[in-house]
Amino acid sequence: MHPATDTLALIGNTPLVRLKGPSEATGCEIFGKCEFANPGASVKDRAALSIVEDAEARGLIQPGGTFVEGTAGNTGIGLALVANAKGYRTIIVMPETQSREKMDTLRALGAELVLVPAAPYSNPGHFVHTSRRIAEETSNAVWANQFDNIANRRAHITGTAEEIWAQMEGRIDGFTCAVGTGGTLAGVGLGLKAKDPDVCIALSDPHGAALYGYYADGELHAEGSSVAEGIGQGRITANLEGAPVDTQFRIGDEEGLEWVRRLLAQEGLCLGLSSGINVAGAVRLAQALGPGKRIATILCDTGFRYLSTLYNADWLRAKGLSVHPWLAHA
Ligand code: PMP
Repeated sequence: MHPATDTLALIGNTPLVRLKGPSEATGCEIFGKCEFANPGASVKDRAALSIVEDAEARGLIQPGGTFVEGTAGNTGIGLALVANAKGYRTIIVMPETQSREKMDTLRALGAELVLVPAAPYSNPGHFVHTSRRIAEETSNAVWANQFDNIANRRAHITGTAEEIWAQMEGRIDGFTCAVGTGGTLAGVGLGLKAKDPDVCIALSDPHGAALYGYYADGELHAEGSSVAEGIGQGRITANLEGAPVDTQFRIGDEEGLEWVRRLLAQEGLCLGLSSGINVAGAVRLAQALGPGKRIATILCDTGFRYLSTLYNADWLRAKGLSVHPWLAHA
């Protein structure tokens, strides 16, 4: 392997790993795309780089300018590292409910962090609207707008989908993941369908999100809630428009957490809850398609980002979630 030319060249081209437990449980071959292997340790590095390069190509940003974004954290981390590598500043607006580790990581990267109370999208104080306002009030600033900027999903059409197709040597029957912006699901879905229209694309939706209802019966409606960070969408973002979704699953936190635990204890993979929900969805898709099928999903980010939450017994108990046996005495 030749050395990468710079940090940004390390984004993408992530490994694909066969997930032993999920494969054995279903009689299928289930693979996880290791997005935690990106330099910012999440899938969102891809969208961040694509959004910054798109702004540059359009002449929207000048040297020394600022990228402003509202994010659950991972896009902010991706943007901050891309901005550092290219000489820009970042202002990141984040709901105060997100993990402490993400806040500390953003501060460590030099991002200016603005924490806002969690609020519904209809509230002008919602983190997305706050970030747009800050961008408008800041000179030489660009609002990254990851939800409705389709430079986000383009990164997954040209990157993630192509990589999965090549890594699986064109032998793939299904793909599933959850949705935050929808960039990953729509981008990988469109990219894989262009290669083979028979690849089944499935949404794995957490509780509290409205997309399961939308794809099942055409209406956006949510029920319940989830502690998963970075996923759970209530509207059809521009990135989601035209997403080729064939089927959908609703996945509870305990079901996702069970796979997070098994992958950690039996395969040594330390992941966040959106990855657990994705793997739970891949297992459901495998059961729906039948034995012998080949299915891919996304391992979105590292579990080291959630040591104070998903891997903390007190936090799990406070949320009413079951505690991993080996954490129970901690
Ligand atoms: N998992 C995590 C941990 C995330 O931060 C995100 C991004 N918000 C996603 C999944 C969903 O990715 P996308 O925005 O492409 O739908």
